[in-house]
Amino acid sequence: MTQTTAYTTLEASVYASKGLADCKVLVVDDEQSSCLLITTILSDIVQCEFLHDPARVIDYCEKQPPDLIVLDINMPGINGIELCQQLKQNRNTSACPVVFITGDGNAETQNKCWQAGASDYVRKPVVASTLVHRVKNLLQSKLRLDLLTELTFKDQLTALYNRYYLFTEIPTQLKRLSRESKSLGVIMIDIDYFKGFNDRYGHVAGDKCLFDVAQTLKDQLPGPHDSIVRFGGEEFSVFLPDTTQEECRNIGQRMVDAIANLSIDNEASPLGKVTISAGYVISPPTNTPDLEQLLSEADLYLYEAKLAGKARLTGSTEKQNQAC
Ligand SMILES: [Mg+2]
Repeated sequence: MTQTTAYTTLEASVYASKGLADCKVLVVDDEQSSCLLITTILSDIVQCEFLHDPARVIDYCEKQPPDLIVLDINMPGINGIELCQQLKQNRNTSACPVVFITGDGNAETQNKCWQAGASDYVRKPVVASTLVHRVKNLLQSKLRLDLLTELTFKDQLTALYNRYYLFTEIPTQLKRLSRESKSLGVIMIDIDYFKGFNDRYGHVAGDKCLFDVAQTLKDQLPGPHDSIVRFGGEEFSVFLPDTTQEECRNIGQRMVDAIANLSIDNEASPLGKVTISAGYVISPPTNTPDLEQLLSEADLYLYEAKLAGKARLTGSTEKQNQAC
């Protein structure tokens, strides 16, 4: 494999960006005929689903977040304006653009739409080309923003989060967890004998190894709010919100085992294959912990794992056991 081909393959898999036809639009309208009309118009350009019952929208969006919502205003139970306010207050749906469909275009209704957080509104009777173009423009902006966010927060080689994400997003997460009296598990990971791997097999193989290790580590994350960051060259840090010491230890051990089971040759290692060492800590749930301090504590355990012979996990539990 030439160097160019290797990089192209990695980057293509990292930035396989989503197109307009892959976008999901949710239409919420209590009237069947109106819902059918809007869904039929939009199905030409996007994947379209609908709900007649506004009470089911929040739950639906948490399970399968849409890229855009088309919302009727007058509905029984909860009206479109109230529903839009709820969507904008929800962490999972706040960034999703909402387009109102309204039969009443007076100034007061328009103001209510904007105040509720609407991105746009379309008057009834719906003109197909107007609806299509408004939805298309909003989705294209969202796709560009999603890609920009991806490029800002993700490491280009491994598609894991980068240090910028670590130092901008994790402190916010720590504060929230502390408010909720929940702890954060932190695992620091380093690939063993990686310099030897690069010297022996070359940097292209080194990059491929980093990519494979990163994907395997990511596969071990159990929850949607868990995250993994490429901390430096061959070093990774894992963040597990609301995790017990035992869960953190189990996940760390699974990661050590999963990398060993990949059986990537590394003749520079006495084990003959690529392995990782890892160290973990749990933040105390009672006071707001300092991220730098947590990272350096986890790093000390990682150092202990290296000293103890590498290819293993060390953490606060092991330390306590040794002290007993
Ligand atoms: Mg209605």
